[in-house]
Amino acid sequence: VRQQWKKMVNQPSVTADGQQYKISANIGSSVDISSAIKNGADGVGLFRTEFLYMKSDHLPTEEEQFNAYRRAVEQLNGKRLVVRTLDIGGDKPLQFMPLPKEMNPFLGYRAIRIALDRPEMFRTQLRALLRASEFGKINIMFPMITTLEELQTAKNIYYEEQQKLAVDHPGIGRDIHLGIMIEVPLAALNADRLASEVDFFSIGTNDLIQYCFAADRGNDSVSYLYQPLNPTFLKLIKHIIDAGHAHDTTVAMCGEMAGDRYALPLLIGMGLDIYSMSASSILRTRSMMKQLDSKKCQELYQQAVTTCDSMTGVKQLVQKWLVTN
Ligand code: PEP
Ligand code: MG
Repeated sequence: VRQQWKKMVNQPSVTADGQQYKISANIGSSVDISSAIKNGADGVGLFRTEFLYMKSDHLPTEEEQFNAYRRAVEQLNGKRLVVRTLDIGGDKPLQFMPLPKEMNPFLGYRAIRIALDRPEMFRTQLRALLRASEFGKINIMFPMITTLEELQTAKNIYYEEQQKLAVDHPGIGRDIHLGIMIEVPLAALNADRLASEVDFFSIGTNDLIQYCFAADRGNDSVSYLYQPLNPTFLKLIKHIIDAGHAHDTTVAMCGEMAGDRYALPLLIGMGLDIYSMSASSILRTRSMMKQLDSKKCQELYQQAVTTCDSMTGVKQLVQKWLVTN
């Protein structure tokens, strides 16, 4: 933890004009939680559970998963843990369950698509999460939701498991908030309808950018199309946030963009609620947030989307603005 930011560890995530937000950590295992806490995280905004599966030579049992989630949430001492259900496929293979080779793995069999196709594996994870939720605050989110039907099917499976467990554990899952990643363009366009079905959204900009710009996130030859500050893309983010807020749905972001220093004033200007990023970016973001005025950030966002035609234009605008604000 850098000396200059140390004093920010126990401070709230707040702008100069007193608007409160949350800055959370992205983690890959419960081992990462101590670093999240050291860096003053307001919670964990993304627990990528696939690493539990990827490092195992067998399908992790309900008991193994329950222990991992319980350990994680207990360490957080009352702060919230947002757990993403299994997001394998695409670029993330499993040792114990070989998946068919695909021409376009990012457009193929991955994440919620696998979960709904192999519901036993999904049910095991949901049971482990429901049981762990008796030891702290847990949120569950589904990755790669594209259609409303997928979400409804996933929710039905979740509520079935909840009801089965409630026979012996009355009230289990009472405090769980359910959410989805918004990382597929169709889901972003349908955010209004999806928002009425969930407690929160978490915008996965790594995939949302890859799919909006049709550019493989791991391919260097097209990395110029990784454009979080593109004005058209910014308008899509704003659309998701407004749709969420119209239904009292909290809107978080857990892709790399959430920790981008040029994106921060724009995201504040759009009204994003929760910023989830690698632990090492939290204190820098919190100290920058403290310098910003949310009203001026709103004006900056408006100016960016009305006067700029490119990512480069937006970046120059923000750079100049930061010098004087
Ligand atoms: C994302 O897509 O932005 C995201 C946070 O998930 P992942 O990087 O694990 O796909
Ligand atoms: Mg993703």
